[in-house]
Amino acid sequence: MPELPEVETIKNELLPYVVGHYITDVTLFWDGIVRQPSVAEFCSRLVGQRISGIARRGKYLIFSLTSGEALIIHLKMTGSLLLKPTSAEPDKFTRAILYLDEETQLSFRDPRKFGVMWLVADANSVVNKLGPEPLEADFTPQVLAQRLRGRTAPIKALLCDQGFIAGIGNMYADEALFSARIHPMRSGGSLSWDEIERLHGSIQQILWAAIGNKGASVENYFRPDGTLGTAHFQFQVAHRLGGKFCPVCGTPIERIVVRNRGTYFCPKCQSQNQPTPS
Ligand SMILES: [Zn+2]
Repeated sequence: MPELPEVETIKNELLPYVVGHYITDVTLFWDGIVRQPSVAEFCSRLVGQRISGIARRGKYLIFSLTSGEALIIHLKMTGSLLLKPTSAEPDKFTRAILYLDEETQLSFRDPRKFGVMWLVADANSVVNKLGPEPLEADFTPQVLAQRLRGRTAPIKALLCDQGFIAGIGNMYADEALFSARIHPMRSGGSLSWDEIERLHGSIQQILWAAIGNKGASVENYFRPDGTLGTAHFQFQVAHRLGGKFCPVCGTPIERIVVRNRGTYFCPKCQSQNQPTPS
């Protein structure tokens, strides 16, 4: 699933081609992609609007429109947004096309059909339950500590909980916990201040590095020009893409299931019994 670095990359790479342009037509190949309003209203209200900006909140893309409305897109498991010439033919996984002026189309491709679009008067009606943005200046170790206090859920589950912190999913949670040397099953409230500071630093460092590498192309993630990101080449444990052994200590990487999510970690570097020397 595209996580914060992938969605941020898509936003950054769409901006120069989309902002300031008009939506001239909308074609849907899968009506289920529109969550709100009705399909007919969605199409008729979008056509003729100019896109005035794109923002990211968590894993959501928010296109602001000159009418004051917002087009919100969530790519879910396998969605991608591709920029193509108007004349490009849809493939069998194309679920929607927004035609823009100047011979461009924005194609929503989604093999598994979990992706969603909303057209709403106020973006907050969709994204208001999200937790803090991990790369914003107001997300400090103190904020993380405060949110962890008293939490009994495993830290891996909390990091993937969009209401706890926005934008992190399975891959970057595993990478951040490995980098911070914290066992994924530790309860959130049991982390020491040192561990919280380490985790905070690891989250930011892992996410920034992945944005620098234009996201991780596992599953069906593509950049808007159809090319792949390279962040997965840096993965130490996630999906065991770096290999079967811990790159730090050589111990075999283990896979466990935490709240239905496959979770990769090093049982030695991330031992259950912290603290470890920093
Ligand atoms: Zn290790």
